[in-house]
Amino acid sequence: MSLTLAIYGKGGIGKSTTSSNLSAALALKGAKVLQIGCDPKHDSTFALTGMLQPTVIDVLTEVDFHHEEVSVEDVVHTGFAGVDTLESGGPPAGSGCGGYVVGETVKLLHEFGLYDKYDVIVFDVLGDVVCGGFSAPLNYADYGVIIACNDFDSIFAANRLCLAIKQKSARYRVELAGIIANRVDYELGGGTTLLEQFAETVGTQIIGRVPYHDLIRRSRLMGKTLFEMEGPGKEECTTPFLEMAEYLLNRPRSTVPKPMGDREIFNVIGGW
Ligand code: ADP
Ligand code: MG
Repeated sequence: MSLTLAIYGKGGIGKSTTSSNLSAALALKGAKVLQIGCDPKHDSTFALTGMLQPTVIDVLTEVDFHHEEVSVEDVVHTGFAGVDTLESGGPPAGSGCGGYVVGETVKLLHEFGLYDKYDVIVFDVLGDVVCGGFSAPLNYADYGVIIACNDFDSIFAANRLCLAIKQKSARYRVELAGIIANRVDYELGGGTTLLEQFAETVGTQIIGRVPYHDLIRRSRLMGKTLFEMEGPGKEECTTPFLEMAEYLLNRPRSTVPKPMGDREIFNVIGGW
């Protein structure tokens, strides 16, 4: 049985960085992993392959959406530790739907007979707007995972994501595995105090803490995973990913979150 994760969070919070390093850690633990970038930014898999690969939508557009003319190599590229990567791409700006793009990607993977070949599938999705389209990966996922940091705006987005996961869980198997705290900085950013308060309020937990670290910033620029970087702090940065990989491979308990109202969150978190 494969494990499917849908990773969400506010723009720029570190979804792609986290997804790529988590995929790498899962692969280093022996899993056959596919990471699917579902953000129109289409740089989800850059750290794994060191390149910006063509998106499914780019490739399909070139062949006038004749699926039979597309081969696996056109869209799937293998990156660090044997992780397969794919970028679904985005709908045309101002028109189209992110859900359609995700649907076409999953359809193509089924046509290649690939979808069931992986131990783990990681969807890296944007999370500022959880419209019907961008919530589509939740239809396929076992676990939703939210990336947030210890500030109000990423927690506001996290709460909306909890709402989307709660709604989807009524019709699909998906539940929330928990929150990954990113950019954790105990000196400047207060650690994870606000995030912990939020997690408890909505009935979930923090499943990993990734430090705010220059090695992570540089790995993004170099198109490398943290496992390929050298320098001080390497262990501090890679350990959380190896621990999260182990944790998720053991299929932890998940919950249907209990999100707050949009106004309530201003009182609960804003008034702290
Ligand atoms: P998203 O996919 O959510 O838009 P990215 O993963 O692309 O976000 O991250 C945005 C930027 O923040 C990148 O340049 C990345 O290197 C940087 N970044 C993310 N997490 C950290 C961290 N823990 N420490 C330092 N820089 C980080
Ligand atoms: Mg991204």
